[in-house]
Amino acid sequence: PEMFSPQLVDFIGDCLIKDMNQRPFARELLEHPLLLAVSSFEEKIRKELQSEIKQQRAEGRSCRAPDATTKRGKLKSHRKARPEKMYTDDLATLEVLTEEGIVEQLQKRYNQNQIYTYIGDILVAVNPFTDIGIYTKKSQQIYQSRCRSDNPPHIYAVADAAHQALLHQKQHQAIVISGESGAGKTESANLLLKQLVFLSKTQNRNLEEKILQVNPIMEAFGNARTGINANSSRFGKYLDLSMMRMGRISGARISVYLLEQSRVVHQALGESNFHVFYLSLRWLGKRRTEHNVHRWRQLNQAFKVVGFNEDEVQIIYKMLAAILHLGDIEFGEAASNDNTDNKATIIDTAPLHRASCLLGVETTDLRECLTSSSVVARGETIARHSSPTEAAVARDATARGLYARAFDRIVERINALLCHNRFQGYDQLSIGILDIFGFENFTKNSFEQLCINIANEQIQYYFNQHIFTWEQQEYMAEGVPVDLVEFSDNRPVLDMLLSRPMGLLALLDEESRFPRSSDRSLIEKFHNNLKSKYYVRPKSDAICFAIHHFAGRVVYQANGFLEKNRNFLPPEVVQLMRQSQYDIIRFLFQCPVTKTGNLYSPLQGDLDTRTLESPVSGDMRDRYNSRGLASQSRAQQTVATYFRYSLMELLQKMVSGSPQFVRCLKPNDSRSPKHFDSTKILKQLRYTGVLETIRIRQNGFSHRLVFEEFLKRYSFLAFSYNEEVKPSRDSCRKLLVRLKMDGWALGKSKVFLKYYHVEVLARIYEEQIRK
Ligand code: ATP
Ligand code: MG
Repeated sequence: PEMFSPQLVDFIGDCLIKDMNQRPFARELLEHPLLLAVSSFEEKIRKELQSEIKQQRAEGRSCRAPDATTKRGKLKSHRKARPEKMYTDDLATLEVLTEEGIVEQLQKRYNQNQIYTYIGDILVAVNPFTDIGIYTKKSQQIYQSRCRSDNPPHIYAVADAAHQALLHQKQHQAIVISGESGAGKTESANLLLKQLVFLSKTQNRNLEEKILQVNPIMEAFGNARTGINANSSRFGKYLDLSMMRMGRISGARISVYLLEQSRVVHQALGESNFHVFYLSLRWLGKRRTEHNVHRWRQLNQAFKVVGFNEDEVQIIYKMLAAILHLGDIEFGEAASNDNTDNKATIIDTAPLHRASCLLGVETTDLRECLTSSSVVARGETIARHSSPTEAAVARDATARGLYARAFDRIVERINALLCHNRFQGYDQLSIGILDIFGFENFTKNSFEQLCINIANEQIQYYFNQHIFTWEQQEYMAEGVPVDLVEFSDNRPVLDMLLSRPMGLLALLDEESRFPRSSDRSLIEKFHNNLKSKYYVRPKSDAICFAIHHFAGRVVYQANGFLEKNRNFLPPEVVQLMRQSQYDIIRFLFQCPVTKTGNLYSPLQGDLDTRTLESPVSGDMRDRYNSRGLASQSRAQQTVATYFRYSLMELLQKMVSGSPQFVRCLKPNDSRSPKHFDSTKILKQLRYTGVLETIRIRQNGFSHRLVFEEFLKRYSFLAFSYNEEVKPSRDSCRKLLVRLKMDGWALGKSKVFLKYYHVEVLARIYEEQIRK
């Protein structure tokens, strides 16, 4: 690949994108990069393609609508408010900026079903809570290789912009969708995916189909009804579409973050378990509703299309059914001769029997695992009976562990089935779509809400960094005079939560490693160590605390934090599953940690020495000390540690590409269509810093390129082939002047462009390529 000229590759790539009915030979050629390396082909290919394109144009087969071309030189200035409509597509064009004015704009638009609005290059989407008929095939075609200002704002335009940016800038793209729970992130992510598949013209229907079936599977297993959203994502998801240089999808990969496993065994009042259980209940012959039957068929179809084989799907269903039967196992107290009461016994063995059959393990072994645990005392391993409460804890941990592993299995298989490594080594690009669980504030908030809200806090921080911090740092470094915009920095909250060793999560980890810890000792640790105005202790001695998040104050009940963070799965259960008659189940329990943060050991390599030194007292101590500490790897971490690590990984992914932001807003709390609650919207606009974002988009330069890069990309637009172009400030100025652009700035080493310049350049670029 190093041998062939990049100009040629780009030229052919662009030809192919623009003209879809190319001759098959050119397509073939592109798929075999080595063929392209033969430089003697270059001229021939160029000629072939040019004549082919000419011919297509003559026959009117071009994929572009004729009105899409603009006369070269006649440049569209940036979007203007549309006076005739009294509202604007782009809030960055507003001359007078007030909060009320912005809300009014959004409301007027919303009332006319214009749920999308731009702030420069950022898309704001207000959830309509009803189908407004704007996602048709026709709309898909309209938002194809266009400038944003050509059409009304739309989520499809974001997909188009990311796709074009990938082609022109040859850089990874990341679409970051944010918004509180129920604001419409997952819907937006699905629509983006649909449009990207449409734009990419994979010419591989099979791959397209597969990719589009990923989300229905993920939603069946990872979404559930909450008090806020009937289809709430209970995990974070980053879907990466790998792209060929000419913009065709060649595969996909999902990364998942922190599945809310506790939902498997416990749901708050009015909430539900993961969707798939209701579909599979139908499978067990219960709760047969039309809707569930339909969705059950869809799920099975999706598995089939993606490429899962019948057997592996059956094992996943067996695991789900086993979880349901585990849920029916109840424990009572056994009568005993030796007066050691409180021994757990299983009241009805039928569910135990069914669960063990489904898991392919011996019924007696499963009973043993649930009702006793082995401890090492004075070098001897002895079995210790569990109390009914302990047995119930083990049962729930088993159910959660099974579900988390089934979920991971699905993700891994999807990745294996969709990852096409045909072009390994070939410089592949990607477009990622981030859809996480939105900010939550329930009447009762626990560890799960804390993690969810920290993730949202982190995304907001990334947004701030990208939109405000980095941009403004560059103005100063490059000596470009721009009025700086103040914004609300949420870094202090994040520091309080994530710093080490005294941040909230670090303190939680420390306490989780100490076996005698309790909810009370944890909350005291928090109260004594967290000295931040964003942390509020209660007036009473209730086991709770409040945090001032960027999106509002949330009160967390700390009860159960330690258990949830440890997420202990008894090693006996792991051992038992490793003996299952089913290969897949055996395989799933080989690895100690699941991708979604499910752990079977609460201890880490860096175990707190207090655990070992303090006298053994009570069962927890025994349990901790007896588990062959030497064999426990550092990989066995708490949920908080794992979560922090995966957040970092996610941020690294986002930083490695150039982002497109979609801000979803929720117009009301009752999920009512067409109801725009201005106060609710204003609150979201405030905490997401929309007003400041508008300001910086008006004053600032959202795109900055070093001179050399700028010229490499665009010099052919204004300089002739023979002209010498030095990589200097002057050449950049000349280029911009020749293109009749205004409003840009030149720094010491970079060109500073406004968001609308990028559109203008893209337009000229496209025209030039088509000539
Ligand atoms: P969570 O953080 O809880 O996962 P979310 O932001 O992903 O929430 P969605 O599940 O995407 O929210 O949206 C909630 C509901 O709002 C959807 O189930 C759908 O009914 C409605 N909705 C969202 N976006 C649209 C849209 N563009 N058109 C019509 N309805 C929508
Ligand atoms: Mg969602």
